[in-house]
Amino acid sequence: MRAGPSQEDIRRHNLGALLRHVHLGGPISRAELTSKMGLNRSTIMALTSDLTAAGLVREELPRETGRAGRPSLVVRPESARVYVFAFDVSPDRLAVARVGLGGVILDRREAVRDRGAFELDELTGALSAFARQMRRKTRDDTVCVGAAAAVSGGVRKADGVVRFGPNLRAEEVPFGEELGRRLGLGLPVSVGNDANLAALAEHSRGVGAAVRDLIYLHGDVGIGGGIIAGGHLLGGHDGYGGEVGHMVVNPGGRACGCGSHGCLEAEVGERALLESAGRVQAGVQAAVQTGIHTGAQTGVQTGRPDGQQGRDAVRAVVEAADRGDIVAQEALSRVGDWLGLGVANLVNIFNPEMVIFGGMLREIYLGSAAQVRSQLTLHAMAPQRERLRLRTSSLGDAATLVGAAELAFAHVLSDPLEVLARANA
Ligand SMILES: [Zn+2]
Repeated sequence: MRAGPSQEDIRRHNLGALLRHVHLGGPISRAELTSKMGLNRSTIMALTSDLTAAGLVREELPRETGRAGRPSLVVRPESARVYVFAFDVSPDRLAVARVGLGGVILDRREAVRDRGAFELDELTGALSAFARQMRRKTRDDTVCVGAAAAVSGGVRKADGVVRFGPNLRAEEVPFGEELGRRLGLGLPVSVGNDANLAALAEHSRGVGAAVRDLIYLHGDVGIGGGIIAGGHLLGGHDGYGGEVGHMVVNPGGRACGCGSHGCLEAEVGERALLESAGRVQAGVQAAVQTGIHTGAQTGVQTGRPDGQQGRDAVRAVVEAADRGDIVAQEALSRVGDWLGLGVANLVNIFNPEMVIFGGMLREIYLGSAAQVRSQLTLHAMAPQRERLRLRTSSLGDAATLVGAAELAFAHVLSDPLEVLARANA
């Protein structure tokens, strides 16, 4: 006969569940926790006392209740005290944030990256230097409980090795292990695909909060995606799932960085748009330098400074189309048709409640929504599309960092007291 869960298992589960409510939903009264978790008041009190003693939450009297009687204490996350490091490595940019419990971005650094080779030493060196700078500015009583990175590429779930990342020019890179060693915090660094993590972020804190079935499409140099089905991210057997950018929409079409032809990424990505708009010459690769420009380390800067590539170049096409530039309008229309066809395929297969366009695809979608909708009407089946909502990312450029932070917090939420005891040791 199998034994049921022990008292200790139940307590650990409840501690994690309570902390998750506070982490994702923000300050909440004990009374609300009692009803949301279906536990009695004395159990909630015992759980919040344990989390308070561990320094993960604090309890306060509410400011104004407007009701007679003893007010229920409000439980808040200790956002300034308990934090994780979140990293983001994309073809054009490196970003690091210190994110407090509750999802608060406490501090953030960025650097422009040139599209050169993936130099592991240089990259992890720059990222860990940013983290050290931020750590020096923290108070003595703060505690780092995790670290995770979002990477534009396919990541092996088991060990954080970046197996392929054509736009980063990375292949078989032990990124998580090396970043963990460089950080020297005694913490493992979890690694995930950037679009997968941005999907999780939008699902937990963004426009897709409370939506159980959604597809998030992320445009950077390439196109990535994250599929949330029944509230869970579809990672596939080894964690490489959701590569919607390499769904073939145009057999025999444009060459793709993955080695195939006519992938969604090849027809919709930055290069396709800029070439169609006559902004870069077809087939000619812009000269790339290797290096990280840490001079521009704070503030938000995206794309190459010369405006030939990256977000700024894409924005320029959308703005030109808005002003009536025919070539830009035709380029956007062409890209919008392919995007709509890709979305129609996904809608037929997954029947999502919402499709979210993020990263560079936010601008592309806003500039080509009519084409996307008409392709959906042509190719998506009526029952799947009739209640579908198309939205743009609400977390914007922070989506990948917020997603990485959620990955880093995941083990804290599964066993809060154990993780905190280890972090304080
Ligand atoms: Zn491809």
